[in-house]
Parts: sequence; C-alpha cells; structure tokens
Amino acid sequence: MQRRPGFPARLDGAGGAASKPAPAPLRPTVRPNVPAAPHGVGLDSAAVRARMVQKLAAGGIASPLVLQALSSVERHRFVDSALVNQAYEDTSLPIGLAQTISKPSVVARMCELLLGAECARTGGLGRVLEIGTGCGYQAAVLGRLAREVYSIERLRGLHEKARDNLRHLRLANVHLLFGDGMQGYAKGAPYAAIIAAAGGEAVPQAWCDQLALGGRLVAPMALAGGQQVLLVIDKTAHGLKQSVLEPVHFVPLKSGIA
Ligand code: SAH
Repeated sequence: MQRRPGFPARLDGAGGAASKPAPAPLRPTVRPNVPAAPHGVGLDSAAVRARMVQKLAAGGIASPLVLQALSSVERHRFVDSALVNQAYEDTSLPIGLAQTISKPSVVARMCELLLGAECARTGGLGRVLEIGTGCGYQAAVLGRLAREVYSIERLRGLHEKARDNLRHLRLANVHLLFGDGMQGYAKGAPYAAIIAAAGGEAVPQAWCDQLALGGRLVAPMALAGGQQVLLVIDKTAHGLKQSVLEPVHFVPLKSGIA
C-alpha cells in the first residue's frame, strides 16, 4: 500500500542533485532553491484546517455540525503529495482520471443544504447516498454528519483510491460502492438525502424514486442555456419541490462504469 504524505509534504531538494557528488563549492554555500510552504501555513495541519473553517464560517456557513465535520477530516490526506500545500485553500484540485475534489466551500454548502432536509430536522440526518465518491473526501465528511452513507463511483481507479484513502479513518458507517450512480442504489433506499458530486442535464428518475418522504436531493444540474447551477429537490407530501440556487462548476455526470 502506498503511504500517504504527512503534512506539509516534505519537498525534495533540487532535482537530480543527489545522484552525482556535488562539486567543491567555490563560494560560501547558498541554500538550494527549495520551494517554501505557502506563507502563513504552519506545520500543524489542525491549525491550517481551523483557519480554513474560520473562513468558511465567515463566508456564510453557519451549521456547527458542518464546520465541525470539515475541521475533523484531514483534506491533505486525500490529495497527491505535490498538492498537499494547497489542500486547505478553497480550491478544487485534480484527483486523477480527469476528476477533481470539490472546493471546501462547496462541500460545506452542499452538506448544509442536506441538513436542511425536512426529515433531518428531528433526529439528524439518516441514510445518505452520494453520487461520485471521487477521492472519498466528501464521503468522509458526510460520514460525520449522517447515520449511514452510501457513496457510489463509476471509475474503478477512483473507487479504489477512495477505499485506500478512507481505510485509516475506519468509518464503519461509510459504504463505498462501484457502479453507475445514475441508477442510484436501490438497496439502500429510501434516503434522507442524495448528493451528487457530478453535474448532469437532468435529474435521473431513480434518484427521486429513492428519496424518502421529507428527503432532499442536492445536485449540480445544467439549465437550458447550459449554465450549471445547484439544484435542490425536496420530496414532500404534495410532490417534488424544486429550487434553483447559485451557479457551480462540477465535472460531468456520465453513465456506465469504466
Ligand atoms: N465527492 C468527490 C468529488 C469527486 S468528482 C470528492 O470528494 O473527491 C465527481 C465524481 O463523480 C468523479 O469521480 C466521477 O467519476 C464521478 N461520477 C460521474 N458520473 C458518475 C456516475 N454516473 N456514477 C458514479 N460516479 C460518477
């Protein structure tokens, strides 16, 4: 098993220098040009994460549960070692196979919306289905917020990466599945909440069918003009109630597995 990097990643010295004996210095030694950690980032990942969470709170995330979940999951363990120093910036980052881990502010926003589901108001969030496990970061965050999480990924390489990333956390309530999330996951239904991490053209019928009464779906979706927005669908006794929220940028929802 590949070991995950510590935080911050140890940066090697100037490339290739170690393979040849260094020539005798003619002048007093100058420090090699090693890239420094971003200014203001300490050695302690908890402190950097706390700063990220403070910014999320300042940016409007009000749920203490969501803020607590984001402060407890070590995002730097989910990205490649070369990107570790950006792990606590509010940015999406590549995770391989042309996919990305969502920005912390988007993860927080979507989680907060899930907690607003009618059926989560008393007794908390029950079973949640996530479409698009990716590297497993959001699944880990959801694992702190919901009783049970089913997370499905269509790319085997990422499904396996998420399994490796999550192993150390031993989250008994997070279940990773390999398959096409367009079909949802009927065996775990009904869900108090469904969250999609990839954007499609229309909400698959299976997702609405698998939502519990009082449940909420949060998904990026393209409007008629092509603009991608965050969509919230509540399943009420009077049918599905849809709200269109802010513009977002997610990777595409695709059918089939690969
Ligand atoms: N929540 C993830 C973000 C992953 S990006 C994280 O924290 O890393 C979105 C993911 O959705 C990609 O990995 C992509 O492969 C996946 N995806 C796209 N269409 C899908 C589908 N039909 N079923 C399951 N996963 C899908």
